[in-house]
Amino acid sequence: MECPACHRELTTMTVGGVRLDVCKDGCAGIWFNAFELKKFDEPNEFAGDELFEMKPAPGVVVDQTQRYKCPECADHPVMMRHFESAKRGVTVDECPECGGDWLDPGELRNIRDEFPTEAARTQAAQAYFDEVFGGQLAAEKAKSDEQLAKAHKFANHFRFICPSYYIPGEQQWGAF
Ligand SMILES: [Zn+2]
Ligand SMILES: [Zn+2]
Repeated sequence: MECPACHRELTTMTVGGVRLDVCKDGCAGIWFNAFELKKFDEPNEFAGDELFEMKPAPGVVVDQTQRYKCPECADHPVMMRHFESAKRGVTVDECPECGGDWLDPGELRNIRDEFPTEAARTQAAQAYFDEVFGGQLAAEKAKSDEQLAKAHKFANHFRFICPSYYIPGEQQWGAF
């Protein structure tokens, strides 16, 4: 599998029982298959120190303004870049087809450092939702389809801040 950022060959690693594809010889980015990122996004979860210790190889420079293509899907769809973080603006590139996520070096640490616990993350997410939707979070309270669509879109963009809600159909505002 080719690195979407620097186009070197990714190295498969198993960290905490999870298979990851890492750009070990290049830019030190990490590819997570769908749902895998949430296994690493909190400080109290398996540390996976080797993931944090990776540094880009000498001379490897990545243009992070470029759009990345999914390394996993056969037709290599362009990944969507989300600003996942209310606090620090961490960006994650996500494949619209397979749901995998690409993190540039340092991004995993930034995500994990934001909230010490899942409870703190949930609380912050709830507060942010309340602020944005004025307390009308629940889908059944949405006054119009437009509002509901907005809530869905927003929820989808929010799942790294509140990954425990990333269970299709389990959220009070509806499935992603
Ligand atoms: Zn790379
Ligand atoms: Zn994909």
